[in-house]
Parts: sequence; C-alpha cells; structure tokens
Amino acid sequence: MTLPKQLEESTILTQRQLGDCVYLATFSAPEIAKLAKPGQFIQVRIQHGDVMLRRPFGVAAVDRDHQTITMIYRKIGHGTRILSEMLPGEEVNILGPLGHGFRTDVKHPLLIGGGVGLAPLLFYAAALKGKVDVIMGGRNEDEMFWVNLFRPYVKNVYVTTDDGSMGTKGFPTTILPQILEKEDYDSIAVCGPEIMMRGVAKIAKEHHVPCEVSLEKRMGCGLGACLSCAIDTTDGKRKKVCKDGPVFPAEEVFA
Ligand SMILES: Cc1cc2nc3c(=O)[nH]c(=O)nc-3n(C[C@H](O)[C@H](O)[C@H](O)COP(=O)(O)OP(=O)(O)OC[C@H]3O[C@@H](n4cnc5c(N)ncnc54)[C@H](O)[C@@H]3O)c2cc1C
Repeated sequence: MTLPKQLEESTILTQRQLGDCVYLATFSAPEIAKLAKPGQFIQVRIQHGDVMLRRPFGVAAVDRDHQTITMIYRKIGHGTRILSEMLPGEEVNILGPLGHGFRTDVKHPLLIGGGVGLAPLLFYAAALKGKVDVIMGGRNEDEMFWVNLFRPYVKNVYVTTDDGSMGTKGFPTTILPQILEKEDYDSIAVCGPEIMMRGVAKIAKEHHVPCEVSLEKRMGCGLGACLSCAIDTTDGKRKKVCKDGPVFPAEEVFA
C-alpha cells in the first residue's frame, strides 16, 4: 500500500543543542504534520553546501495545531554538521512522511531506545500518552536529557548507562528480563544500535511479547526505487527498509 507523502519547503523554526553533538530542530511542515504517524521518517534535503542526497530522520514530534514537525539528530558527518549550523529562518526541503510506523492497536507497550534511537519513540510515546513505559540507554548521565523529554507521556522511565553514572550500569537488555517479569506488556517497540535491538528481540521472544524493531540503513531515495536499503528477511525475501519499514516485526528481520 502506498501511503500519501508530501514535498514541503520548510522553514527552520527552532534549533537547539540538547547534548554532546545532539540537536533538536523544529520545522514548519503543515502537510507532513497532518499525515505523520509514529515510526515514520522524513528525507531532508539540505540546500546548503555540497550535500547531494537527502538524509533520513525519524519524526520525533508533531504539533498539528502549529503545523510543525520536530526531529532530534546526532551530528555525525557532513550533512548533519551543516544542518546543525543552520539557523531559524533558513529553509530545507522535506519529503515525507515515509515508510511504515509502529502498531497503534496496542494497550500497554514498552518502548526501548538507545541514543538517538529514542527520537522516533518520543512521537510514539506522545501518541500513546499515559499507556507506555520506556527503557532508555545511553553512554552516561549527560546523554540522559531524554528523561525530561519523555516524562510528560510515560508512566515509568527506566534508565541504563554504560558507565553507571545514572540508573543501572549496563544496557537496556540488562534490566529488560526483570521488567518483563513484573509487568504485563502487550508489545515492545525498539530503536537503536542493531546489537541492542537483536538482544531485545531475543528476550521479548523468550517472554512471548510481540516486538517491533525500527531499522536504520543507509538509503538513497527513501521511496523504494533505488534499492540501496534492501535487506534479507528471515523467510528469504528481500524488503526495503524505506518502504516496507523502517518498522518491522522483529521475527521478520532477526533470526
Ligand atoms: C529511517 C531512518 C531514520 C533515521 N532517524 C534518525 C534520527 O531520528 N536521528 C538521527 O540522528 N539519525 C537518524 N538516522 C541516521 C541519519 O540518517 C544519519 O546519521 C545521517 O544521514 C548522516 O548524515 P551525514 O551527512 O551527517 O553523514 P555522512 O557524512 O553521510 O556519514 C557519516 C557517517 O555516518 C554513517 N551513517 C550515515 N548514514 C547512516 C545511517 N543511515 N545509519 C548508520 N550510519 C550512517 C556513515 O557510515 C559515516 O560513517 C536515521 C536513518 C534512517 C535510515
């Protein structure tokens, strides 16, 4: 099924740094704000310098009243460096919303994110306000600005840090089994480093909780045409992360 998508000339309304190399930017994008669903992404063309291809980013928030969308991104290379230096009032061209998002027919999901993988989960938490818990993993306390972003929407926030400076020392997978023992969830949604998503998917399966994973692959067009984000599924098929995902049932992509 092809979902409606828009191409919008968007103005940067706000741009602020949340942590080391992590930024939050809000754009005017009336049509995308109207259509976007949690887990979908946008392709941003940065009309600055020599950045040729669009860059994909999850939608971290929408404000339908003010017709804006927000993304939270890590400055990692050329495109995101230029983006992080752009100021309110400057323009980017945005294509979206793209791909298939998270299930919405859930009653009490557990969201699990690592680093900027928490960005698309923030939109999901806002959409399911009050019904969700979240486990967030990061390197250290300085990266845990996420707690304040999620707090308005979730019941319980569990934190793990690699160095133990906040929450439990370890990874989301360190505390997941004991959380699943004490609380009944009808689904798990996870986004972050692949090794973490694989670990979460394995534990979810052992506890018989359906799990969705949001994959991140380098991609070109974002529309299913260039095939650069094609992956092998567990049943031997080829799927495109941009069009068939980025959200997949875990058992479809992780053996
Ligand atoms: C569906 C989807 C949603 C995404 N959502 C977010 C988000 O919400 N926030 C966020 O910060 N990032 C997100 N990303 C990753 C983001 O697209 C890349 O970090 C960005 O394109 C890098 O652009 P760049 O020009 O700065 O880096 P480049 O100069 O192109 O590359 C710099 C380095 O980043 C690596 N890299 C580039 N793209 C990716 C990628 N897709 N996955 C893994 N490594 C990559 C390269 O291998 C290289 O080492 C998402 C990616 C996908 C596919």
